[in-house]
Amino acid sequence: MKTEGDWVERFVSAVGSAVSLERDAPAGALCTWRVGGPLRVVVRPNSRSELMTLAEALPEGLPTLVIGRGSNLLVSDRGFDGVCVMLGSDFESIEMLLPPGAGVDAGADAVVVSGGAVPLPVLARRSAASAVAGLEFYVGIPGSVGGAVRMNAGGHGQTTAEVLLDCEVFDLANASLNTIAAHELRFDYRSSAIRPTQVVTSARFRGVLDLRDACERRIDDVVAWRRAHQPGGANAGSVFANPHGDSAGRLLDTAGCKNAAVGGAEVSSKHANFIQANPGATANDVYSLISFVRSRVYAVHGVDLQPEVQCAGFEYPPDLHKELSK
Ligand SMILES: Cc1cc2nc3c(=O)[nH]c(=O)nc-3n(C[C@H](O)[C@H](O)[C@H](O)COP(=O)(O)OP(=O)(O)OC[C@H]3O[C@@H](n4cnc5c(N)ncnc54)[C@H](O)[C@@H]3O)c2cc1C
Repeated sequence: MKTEGDWVERFVSAVGSAVSLERDAPAGALCTWRVGGPLRVVVRPNSRSELMTLAEALPEGLPTLVIGRGSNLLVSDRGFDGVCVMLGSDFESIEMLLPPGAGVDAGADAVVVSGGAVPLPVLARRSAASAVAGLEFYVGIPGSVGGAVRMNAGGHGQTTAEVLLDCEVFDLANASLNTIAAHELRFDYRSSAIRPTQVVTSARFRGVLDLRDACERRIDDVVAWRRAHQPGGANAGSVFANPHGDSAGRLLDTAGCKNAAVGGAEVSSKHANFIQANPGATANDVYSLISFVRSRVYAVHGVDLQPEVQCAGFEYPPDLHKELSK
């Protein structure tokens, strides 16, 4: 279906006052790159029944974009002409299911139940404070639980695929709510089977009881490593996925991409797989720089790096091949 025209008015009146809704919110306010144009409609459902209301009001075929913490997302300067869904604060609860005698019986299994909107660093710290080990690696990843499941986020030798038991998923396309086991999610490197219409509303993680001090020491180690090795500023973490058996950062570095810039976007001098958006940068600057360094690595190393970041609202998302061949 065409997305121009008056779909916004029809959608807003169908949703009514049932769900918190904002029009033309700037993407830059919701994404860690701090760039991007207006999001036509942003809804913040606070419950599963609000998600149901949304799904019933959504015109068939209208593009949807689920936004977590926006830490892996590049929205074009034109913005996104569809419905963006951000889980509200009611999806931010965390529950520790601990066996009796918790804190004493190190090595016993524990389960952490988390809402889909919970920031990963909060999940890591709350688990450690409850002496539940296994989720410490999340402290360095500034995404949400839903975003981590969708992206199979990982670091420090661990991935979401290894710690997730299952997750609850609401599908906006058919208004269904299902629990999906981790092994059904076809996890791969920074990818999963979660589709754009599916919203991860909660997740259950596997943990192991340990001494609280030991958990908190590991948290401190991850934080210290991040501070030492990664740049600050407005960025979205690693831009490209590591190709099999190699590191995208190494390929970019040895292709001379460090400090390459387009407009206000610049490859970090600290880590070549990070692109920083300096004040005044546009989404187009970031996108053009991604395309530029990608072609440079291809020219020097013959490796076509695959973007890890998710692009929305561009003419050719998320495959930049067409951009390369222009
Ligand atoms: C400084 C920095 C360091 C980073 N380090 C790492 C790292 O070490 N390892 C790593 O893997 N990533 C890293 N990232 C990238 C990013 O944090 C992860 O990919 C994270 O999982 C994205 O979560 P998010 O909530 O921000 O998702 P968003 O950026 O909002 O969205 C990313 C994708 O997930 C989808 N999505 C978001 N929420 C949901 C949901 N509830 N249900 C369904 N789909 C959803 C979106 O539609 C989109 O396709 C880093 C980013 C930054 C800025």
